[in-house]
Amino acid sequence: METELKQYSIAELCDGFVYNELEEKGLYGLSGKLTIQPEYQRNYLYAEDNGKKEVAVIESVLKQYPLGLLYFNRLPNGRLEVLDGQQRITSLGRFLTDKFSVMSNDLPYRFHALPKDQQKLIEKTKMLVYECEGTESEIKQWFQTINIAGIPLNEQEELNAVYSGPFVTKARAVFSNSRNANVQKWSAYVRGSVKRQDFLNTALDWVSHGEVEEYMQAHRHDTDIEELQAHFGDVIAWVESIFADCYNEMCGLKWGVLYDDYHDTPYDQKKITARAAELMDDPCVRNRKGVFEYLLGGEADTRLLDVRVFDDATKRRVYRKQTAEARTNGVSNCPLCAMGHEANRTKLWGEREMEADHVSAWSRGGATTEENCQMLCKTHNRAKGNR
Ligand SMILES: [Zn+2]
Repeated sequence: METELKQYSIAELCDGFVYNELEEKGLYGLSGKLTIQPEYQRNYLYAEDNGKKEVAVIESVLKQYPLGLLYFNRLPNGRLEVLDGQQRITSLGRFLTDKFSVMSNDLPYRFHALPKDQQKLIEKTKMLVYECEGTESEIKQWFQTINIAGIPLNEQEELNAVYSGPFVTKARAVFSNSRNANVQKWSAYVRGSVKRQDFLNTALDWVSHGEVEEYMQAHRHDTDIEELQAHFGDVIAWVESIFADCYNEMCGLKWGVLYDDYHDTPYDQKKITARAAELMDDPCVRNRKGVFEYLLGGEADTRLLDVRVFDDATKRRVYRKQTAEARTNGVSNCPLCAMGHEANRTKLWGEREMEADHVSAWSRGGATTEENCQMLCKTHNRAKGNR
């Protein structure tokens, strides 16, 4: 790989700068010769958080602090692409085109309202650029090793860089686009940030059954994203068709896996929606995120709900009462042992040898109250199992 160190003034870099509001990215610089956001770059993030970061870029220039190195990739046709520095150049370009203000003596100033000497200072500030030329894989490998200032690439951003191509470009236009009207709806079920590729990552995870990288590799040259889009849509529509009500606890669940496991099972939407409402309100359910999987699985696995257990004081009171009665009647204090014919029929178990059990199972409406609590020997409690 060949590299060459060059200097450009900020005015040169931002000449011909266009900011695309729709796609939220800076497009060109150096009079059109530079592409600021090639497809393997990511969304512009410096405007987030009230633009703190883009303002900091301009303040650094005004104070003549170094802004660090920029890295460009020189293409065979002579054009340049930004490898590293997209966020900084976009901040500069946006400021020079009056897209935001910086504070000076407690007043906000857009670029063209600044005193002329400050405008000149910004325009004439030189930026150091490494221009490099190499094969696609050399460039990409290198791109993976340099960290964009302040915000390291996350896993999906890195995969987008490595498997860049028509597939990633199309997928990002749908799943990494905060202007997409569907995002609001999707965010009921998908956690994270569109711009940081969390929605794209989720869609890929669902369609690939967890093999995101393999899927991107196999589809990187595809010119459509039909399968990805259709599968994602199917999963969301399936969830909506089963649970009529939406809860905060639904956000970020492994819906792709649940879809794979249960989408062939028929459900009665009215019944399951009503059950969900009951369980979400039940104070015994400690893990409300588990309610949906519990219901999809036919209410079989109560472990998903982390149901509230009897507290120690309750267990002790029940133990004492049961043991006193057992002594009087000359039988075991475990009611199940007492009914049997084995040697344990009259055994009095110690408190630590016994466990609390719901007389009427929780899953059949039995409450976690003292009246519904009985102590069983460990063997019988475990044999009774998780009803
Ligand atoms: Zn027993």
